[in-house]
Amino acid sequence: MRAGLGGGRLFRRDAEGIGVRAMAKSAGRKTVSVSRGLMMLCETCHSQVLQEKLVDHKNFVADHETLFDAICPGCLDINRPLIDDMLGSSE
Ligand SMILES: [Zn+2]
Repeated sequence: MRAGLGGGRLFRRDAEGIGVRAMAKSAGRKTVSVSRGLMMLCETCHSQVLQEKLVDHKNFVADHETLFDAICPGCLDINRPLIDDMLGSSE
């Protein structure tokens, strides 16, 4: 099912600590914010990024390259459009 990942621009209002519950519908998936939108992670990856302290108090991941390294192939696949977007446009 489509979860709106292509529309990352819709989710850029995290500057003021707004939660990310807009997309909380997908059962079994957790989301973290990145600069281009939301990453959907499985529980395993989510707890891993929490453990590695990649997520700040606003659920935002600044170091997205480390994040992409930390998550499993399944999560990479789900988030591929967003990942491509972020890796392709880092200047
Ligand atoms: Zn995963």
